[in-house]
Amino acid sequence: MEAPIKMKLKKGDQVVVIAGKDKGKTGAILKVSPTTNRVTVAGINIIKKATKPDQQTGAGGGLIEKEAPIHASNVAIVCSKDGATRIGYRIDDDGSKHRVCVHCGGSL
Ligand SMILES: [Zn+2]
Repeated sequence: MEAPIKMKLKKGDQVVVIAGKDKGKTGAILKVSPTTNRVTVAGINIIKKATKPDQQTGAGGGLIEKEAPIHASNVAIVCSKDGATRIGYRIDDDGSKHRVCVHCGGSL
């Protein structure tokens, strides 16, 4: 059982996939699952899922395409200057904490 790590990523972040079949693709995070250390990224790790016909609505069954979560270590946040980077933190004089790029110090 993997211990949950504190997730630095959050919904809406632009990330690039750094491992696996979608390596090199970028997308925005749709969902973060801190308990499993996984993120769901728009357009990444698409799986085909079979659906059964719905007897209540009368909708036919078939295959739908859907994003499956991938491990947070397989993605890197994207800095507009540097591309794939890591997240650092900057603490201001007033004690507020901001996420920054470890390379250029720009806000993420
Ligand atoms: Zn940067």
